[in-house]
Amino acid sequence: MIDPEECIDCGACEPECPVEAIFPEDALPDKWEPFVKINYAYGEGMDVVNRLTDEYATEHNVQNEPIA
Ligand code: SF4
Repeated sequence: MIDPEECIDCGACEPECPVEAIFPEDALPDKWEPFVKINYAYGEGMDVVNRLTDEYATEHNVQNEPIA
């Protein structure tokens, strides 16, 4: 998660991400648009973030296998 209250949009993290998962909001590919809402929910607490993430995972059938 990127804390939207702390981030100053400097872009330093973008090239460091090994899976190219960081984008400026105005350059986000359409397929990742649902994560804007999830990222903004950071300020509402991790329970809200986890609920939204679970909803996204269920809707898109991307559940992880449980950790043994
Ligand atoms: S490194 Fe990334 S998360 Fe940190 S302030 Fe810069 S753009 Fe925001």
